Amino acid sequence: MPIVPMREILKDARERDYAVGSYNAYDLGLVRGILKAAEQEKSPVIIAHAPVHFKYTGLDSAANIIVHEAKKATVPVALILDHGYDTKTCIEAMDLGFNAVMMDSSRLPLEENAEIVSQVCKIAHARGCDVEGEIGYVTRPVSGKDEGDDDDSIVDDKSYYTSPEDAARFIELTGLDALAVAYGTVHGIYFKKPILDIKRLAEIRKAAGEVPLVMHGGSGLTAEDYKNSISNGIRKINYYTGMAVSVAQSIKEKLEGTDEKVFYHNIVMDSIEYICRDISKSMRLFSSSNKA
Ligand SMILES: [Zn+2]
Repeated sequence: MPIVPMREILKDARERDYAVGSYNAYDLGLVRGILKAAEQEKSPVIIAHAPVHFKYTGLDSAANIIVHEAKKATVPVALILDHGYDTKTCIEAMDLGFNAVMMDSSRLPLEENAEIVSQVCKIAHARGCDVEGEIGYVTRPVSGKDEGDDDDSIVDDKSYYTSPEDAARFIELTGLDALAVAYGTVHGIYFKKPILDIKRLAEIRKAAGEVPLVMHGGSGLTAEDYKNSISNGIRKINYYTGMAVSVAQSIKEKLEGTDEKVFYHNIVMDSIEYICRDISKSMRLFSSSNKA
């Protein structure tokens, strides 16, 4: 199956009221685990690579693995550069075969953010690619250290949340294809129980019209959080940390529970199974199973 435009995947999600998982992958094991889950669950899927993971695998190496494997999939797959921080990286990702990019200039004031995102939209749309932008601010690692080392000290500060008026204005100025919004989720591990502002999400959805909304920080929420978010317009859920923690925990338990000789390939192949299991579970939570 050819790689499918993200806008088509998200349009179907809107029409049939579900969300599609966007999963970060930077090695062959992750890509295989994610695609295996998607095929078993008969679910559309989005595979992402983010600059925070470039230190594990650079964009060009990861893109080659991801594109090659995605082309062999039997379900619709879109490929996105997650959190692209400049136009150059977005173009590089598209040159390497990603058919969507997130241009994340959400730390800038609205007008400047919109200016950059609309530039990327012009370039991307001319080549049939899609663009995600962000308005409001979903907290993310500020220390530049490892995954999960996030600063969520501003998690309860609603001044970072997306305002419906800003969402409408940002969409009008940019013409983007998907909009990441802040309404209580955070990247990485939650240190306190998140309380989602679903009322705000419902208002953003009204303001955003047909533009699909994106949840970042999709790990560690309850089934009800996902359900409420999806029924109020979330069509793409970025999910990585929860999987990374659960897979590592499974490997740890397996190694501690055996006295037999263990080879590296045993760990790699077991990891793919654990990744597949965790991602499959998320697809059922997002109601994307049996939608491919
Ligand atoms: Zn994110």
